[in-house]
Amino acid sequence: MKRQYLKGLIALILLVAITFGTSALGEFTKKDKNADNGQGANMEDAAGEYKPGTYTYEAIGFGGPVTVELTVGEKGGVTNVVITGNSETPDVGGKAIPTLAEQILKAQSAEVDGVSGASVTSGAVKEAAGKAFAEASGQEVVDIPKPEGNNLFVPGTYSGSAKGFGGDINVTVTLSENKIEDIKIEGDHETENIGSFAVNMLGDKILEAQSPEVDALSGATVTSNGIIRALNSALVLAGADLTRFAAEEAEGGEKIMKYEDLDCDIVIIGAGGAGMTAAITATQAGKKVILLEKMPYVGGNTTKATGGMNAAETHYQKEQGIEDTVEQFVEDTMKGGHDINNRDLVTIMAKNSASAIDWLDSIGAPLPKVSFSGGATNKRIHAPEDGSGVGAFLVTRFLNKVEELGIQVMYNTKATNLITLDGKVTGVMAEGPDAYYNIHAKATILATGGFGNNQSMIVKYRDDLLGTVTTSAPGITGDGIRMAEAVGADLVDIEQIQLHPTVEQATSMLITESVRGDGAILVNQEGKRFINELLTRDVVSAGELKQTGSYAYIIFDQRLRDGLKAIEKYVSTGITVQADTIEGLAEQLEIDPATLADTLKTWNQYVADKKDPDFGRDTGMDADLSVAPYYAIKIAPGIHHTMGGVKINTEAQVIDTEGNPIPGLFAAGEVCGGVHGGNRIGGNAVADIVVFGRVASDSAVKYCDEQ
Ligand code: ADP
Repeated sequence: MKRQYLKGLIALILLVAITFGTSALGEFTKKDKNADNGQGANMEDAAGEYKPGTYTYEAIGFGGPVTVELTVGEKGGVTNVVITGNSETPDVGGKAIPTLAEQILKAQSAEVDGVSGASVTSGAVKEAAGKAFAEASGQEVVDIPKPEGNNLFVPGTYSGSAKGFGGDINVTVTLSENKIEDIKIEGDHETENIGSFAVNMLGDKILEAQSPEVDALSGATVTSNGIIRALNSALVLAGADLTRFAAEEAEGGEKIMKYEDLDCDIVIIGAGGAGMTAAITATQAGKKVILLEKMPYVGGNTTKATGGMNAAETHYQKEQGIEDTVEQFVEDTMKGGHDINNRDLVTIMAKNSASAIDWLDSIGAPLPKVSFSGGATNKRIHAPEDGSGVGAFLVTRFLNKVEELGIQVMYNTKATNLITLDGKVTGVMAEGPDAYYNIHAKATILATGGFGNNQSMIVKYRDDLLGTVTTSAPGITGDGIRMAEAVGADLVDIEQIQLHPTVEQATSMLITESVRGDGAILVNQEGKRFINELLTRDVVSAGELKQTGSYAYIIFDQRLRDGLKAIEKYVSTGITVQADTIEGLAEQLEIDPATLADTLKTWNQYVADKKDPDFGRDTGMDADLSVAPYYAIKIAPGIHHTMGGVKINTEAQVIDTEGNPIPGLFAAGEVCGGVHGGNRIGGNAVADIVVFGRVASDSAVKYCDEQ
């Protein structure tokens, strides 16, 4: 998004306000006059305690600066509030501005409710109004420094903050006279959302452009815009005139695309878990690799994996006295997949899982914590030592290794077609930000992930899922399946799409299974349980779809929140409803309070008896739900994993509709079908990408050597 800034930035600013944020402003703006005459933004001069005059302040809104002009009459009351914000989205922030002016005038204070749905604009208006009220109250103000001569900044280190995806983002910049020397971006929820490398990548883009006028990362626009707003606040403190950055941008001419031919041994499409595993392995085997990634960051759906990686007969299991076998791993996976999986592929995954764990050790990505996970007979799921999510952990380590090995990663470069010659795949056509490429390669590996984020493909194979939200990353649109089909590839199990039963629909945020595992229950709009909450994902999802409105509420208490870190993110994102009593919770959910109270009482008794006569639940019953406050999140099923895809054999060669391997074409990860059958069990997505990423690489390396 391009932003145009108004000329004439604030001349004065409250240092204390910027340092401590808007909450600090409240302390010296709270007047609470209750002067409500209902006249909107023009009213008589009621008796007040402000200094007469006009006070104008500015803060950074959604699209640019928002200005608040406050007029205080002779008697000390606020008589007029004028807000301008020409850069705000007309239908959102723009619409909110008159309401905000009215609220401020009515309250005679900056402490107003704001307008829901326009929180960024509301926040900026409240911030600017807070400063105006503060000055009108005689609070101390300091001059914003003015850069010398034509310099951009007053050198120093400055910080700014803004709202991001699930909390505050803080940006600290170190500036010399005309250069952004360093930038530090902090925001826990953002890194959980898109990965710390993505956040850092935006920092790098800002340093490279030497400007806040950079494009948001696609798929992470909320975070990106938060970072840019926080940066702008910091730059304003350094005396920067933001219009100077916007002007440079506007002068840019129309882009002319180049055409380029590139050569390598192996081209890999998609830098998720499977693609990066294959790229590292092939490079270690001495091949020149080009890794294409259509997004501005790596990771795909792999980043989102929270559990761990299933592996059997590993050295970690042996060291921890855990007995497990490859055969049992195969049987569990077949049973979990309703026995429609390709047993040969499952066997390859299970057999090679222990050596995949050793390989992860060797590249600095150990997964030593072994525990139980749904569908596994033995303790088999391997996770990072520090309890962090396996996906983000692995993606960061993979990227470190990719960079250490000097592998060429082409970001923002989308593969569009496979190149074929005499029935062989000989490379890829791709489109980057500045050029179209023909990338010629001896072997090509598809690692583009599934198609969970492509509604038309979902509906093509499963029209019953029309309109269902997805937890998939934005780049997961089935490109690899489409490209493979175009060169004759066969597809398997394509209609096998896994729904996850606990997805918050407005944010597509997945509520981790651990919430139910730790004791939460599901109730319908009638306030009643309807299923054993810990049955498999497909069964619980189907159960929800039969309820009124096809949704449910997941209910938990403070004890459960205290024991599960993930819940903090749900609370800070604003998707939880909370009350001190069950009845209070019920009222907010518009459920009959007596019914919900009765459901909880009955459930707590079942927990005490360790027996659920209604639905036969026998796990996740270690503690009842009795510690206030109580919480609820409205959830429904969301598309989580596409189990079907391109047909491969045990060497990860792509198979055509006649049953023959397509020479030069290999595939690994969620783009393939057959490994998970009708239902993927937790921990097998990561096993799949690491094992088959290595298999695809080994086969491609061998194929290159034979050419
Ligand atoms: P897997 O789990 O199989 O490794 P991921 O979802 O983790 O799959 O990663 C797939 C990656 O492929 C994502 O980063 C996605 O953006 C990328 N991708 C998808 N389609 C293309 C394409 N046409 N060109 C380049 N990259 C692509």
